[in-house]
Amino acid sequence: MSSQPRAEAPRHVRVSIVRLDLGLLTYRVPPALNDAAQPGVRVSVPLGRSRAIGYLIEDDSGPPAKGVRDILEVLDPEPLLGSSQLSLAQFAARYYHSPMSEALRLLHPSGMDLVERRRLGVTDKGRLAIEHGGGLLSVQGLELDPLEQQVLSLLLAGPQEVPRILRRAAGADHLLLHRLQRRGLVSEVEIDYASRVRAVTEEIATLLPDAPKGAELEALAKTAKTQARLIGLLREAGEPVPLSELRRQLPGLRSSIGRMKERGWVSLEARERLRDPFAGRPLLPHPPPELNLDQASAVAVLGAALRERRFEPFLLHGVTSSGKTEVYLRLIREALDSGRGAVVLVPEISLTPQLAGRFRARFPEGVAVLHSALGSGQREDEWRRVRRGDVRLVVGARSALFAPVQHLGVIVVDEEHDSSFKQEEGLRYNARSLALVRGQQEGAVVVLGSATPSMETFHNAETGRTGMLRLPRRATPQPLPLVELVDLRRYQLDAEGVLTAPLSAALADTLSKGQQAILFLNRRGFAPFVLCLSCGQPLRCHDCSVSLTLHKRKDLLLCHYCGHERRPPPMCPSCSAAALKPMGLGTERVEETLRARFPQARVARLDRDTARGTRLQRVLDATAAGQVDILVGTQMVTKGHDFPGVTLVGVVNADHALHLPDFRASERTFQLLSQVAGRAGRGGVAGRVIVQTYSPEHHAIQCAQTHDYVEFYRKESRFRRELGYPPFGHLVALRVEGADEGAVITAAHSLAKSCQEAARKPCAHPVQVLGPVEAPLARLRGRTRWQILLKCASRGPIQAVAASARSWKEEGGRQSPGSPPLLGKDLRVIIDVDPQSML
Ligand code: ADP
Ligand code: ZN
Repeated sequence: MSSQPRAEAPRHVRVSIVRLDLGLLTYRVPPALNDAAQPGVRVSVPLGRSRAIGYLIEDDSGPPAKGVRDILEVLDPEPLLGSSQLSLAQFAARYYHSPMSEALRLLHPSGMDLVERRRLGVTDKGRLAIEHGGGLLSVQGLELDPLEQQVLSLLLAGPQEVPRILRRAAGADHLLLHRLQRRGLVSEVEIDYASRVRAVTEEIATLLPDAPKGAELEALAKTAKTQARLIGLLREAGEPVPLSELRRQLPGLRSSIGRMKERGWVSLEARERLRDPFAGRPLLPHPPPELNLDQASAVAVLGAALRERRFEPFLLHGVTSSGKTEVYLRLIREALDSGRGAVVLVPEISLTPQLAGRFRARFPEGVAVLHSALGSGQREDEWRRVRRGDVRLVVGARSALFAPVQHLGVIVVDEEHDSSFKQEEGLRYNARSLALVRGQQEGAVVVLGSATPSMETFHNAETGRTGMLRLPRRATPQPLPLVELVDLRRYQLDAEGVLTAPLSAALADTLSKGQQAILFLNRRGFAPFVLCLSCGQPLRCHDCSVSLTLHKRKDLLLCHYCGHERRPPPMCPSCSAAALKPMGLGTERVEETLRARFPQARVARLDRDTARGTRLQRVLDATAAGQVDILVGTQMVTKGHDFPGVTLVGVVNADHALHLPDFRASERTFQLLSQVAGRAGRGGVAGRVIVQTYSPEHHAIQCAQTHDYVEFYRKESRFRRELGYPPFGHLVALRVEGADEGAVITAAHSLAKSCQEAARKPCAHPVQVLGPVEAPLARLRGRTRWQILLKCASRGPIQAVAASARSWKEEGGRQSPGSPPLLGKDLRVIIDVDPQSML
């Protein structure tokens, strides 16, 4: 079984304890466990006065230390994590200055929760062994010692969880169970999560025809507000709504709904909760189109690299609707046909169910789709299916990068510029960067695809670090849409501040032709702030340094950062004047304006308030089917949708993203505009895009108008190079957060000082330590935030300073070895390597 030579001296190994940031601890392997103790298995080890579970990472080749304790047990009969996975985790932990335990959690998210739940059952062979083993005639290979006999007999009653078996069969240990497992006498029983999950039901409310309408409803609103609002909500939804959803919008619903049921206005029934938004979607046949020349040459280059089985990264720079997905599909087909596997990362899979459908239709042999609606049990099932090699193609969000696909041949990062590939909590990795690392470790082809590549990726392609493949033309009949800029300094907006005459006329024209339009505004809610006209103060969140957004239909003020919500007050909390006025624009207000302006049009809204789960799928499906005339939404409408009926795209205000205090503001604006423009004219009719802006001369807006990515890259490069920002320099953001402002400031200054000392080493590329300063978002969830920015032309020195920040943090923020720690329980220090958000 083992490939480990039996050494004379006992082995020492390094173990990462789960959920604890203790670094790698060294343990001795007792001779009896030598075979089983392979890298990638979970082990039980003594820790202090108790025991803990950890992953065995590697052999410790250093000189044996004194007082090293023994591993107690090996918990898995075979390594759960392969060597390439372990080295990816080690890279991630080192590069992002994170504990190994966090990195391992990425590789196997539910690994720890499930170790205790593993169940073993007796196999047919095991049954045979019991029949013979205990008796007089013992069959070759089926001999059982008394303890084994006891365990098997125990399992005859049915599969049991491992800890229970160990409790009931005194003297049995994991090693014994592994032996039985290897001999094929017992086997692991898949826990039937699927059926357990399917049993989940929920109550749904249906509006009945007798419910009050019109004047009757208005009368009801005076006496029973909740009931009236509930009727409004159900009517608006136009279909049964889960009670949980209603309760979220209407606290105190329970008693009202009982009364409404008695009156015959609503009915309640239990329904199975839909867990998988993709389950049951019909698989549309998707016959592969004939590739055009650009696609064919891209596939040829990629295929050649695949066949050579070497790591090669590529940027696939293809304009919107140029057929990038088709290129991925062909390459993956080739990988699967040659016995290799593939991982496809997409920004938000729930937003592009069509894409998942396309993969499922093209690869009937199986696709594991990893999305956020999966419960941990389902996720574990998928993980195991992939690990066993039952499925070799995985499509999912950033965490799918860590799926245990065997013989990996291809990694695709679709819409590689998307910020969702960066994880903004825990181990703050960028899946796009780690895709390159994994590709290199496993000799896979990595394709980074986008119409608007990130500055970093394009720079890599331009300097030859990655290959560059281009699809400069659309694969669909119509060319890229014409983009018109409407200068808001010259054109008057309507009374609601939503539409200028040109955009309004274009909408009317589109509707009259029976075509569809998308209207984009990157702000949800009704109004981004509510101002007191008497004292000039906006209503703010108590816990965050931002204003509260008014959500009119829910009748709530919401903090978009911490989720705090409250009813809008009748008067100003500072000066008590009854002069509160909603200011500015959100998607809800745009929707309301459109409904008033175009009463005959079917208007739908797509943002985080309206779109979750089945509701989201419904809006997307309805739009695809042409049942929506105008789709209003936030950046959710800019993502890779393929709605052939959309001919007009309107941008209500292009400037919102432009003025954020973040050096990527121009890049984000260019990407958003180009992507949303790319939704127009994908079918047989030419598209048209109208962009309302106060900054028509800004390069982000001009280049989006001309669809000129390269020009944008050149102009933007000039700023970035001058300031030493990526891709012409490297950044690490250090953030100090805590409830006590004074403590945060002290710690931030001390950390900055310690970084300055570390940066003082003479070096060809000195590291700049900027700050500490208050973060642009100075308070979040009641915690003060300060930050320090490290900047350097070269990767090595900046990582060395970041590592010193990590040591400072691990030592509790001591100025010198003897001094007291600054970091208490409440203070957090975050090290963000290659930060995406500067807020
Ligand atoms: P992208 O990913 O670049 O935005 P898609 O791969 O989604 O583009 O392709 C856009 C549309 O063009 C899809 O409907 C796709 O089926 C179609 N398409 C792709 N390649 C071809 C081709 N060679 N001939 C005709 N249609 C194509
Ligand atoms: Zn808040």
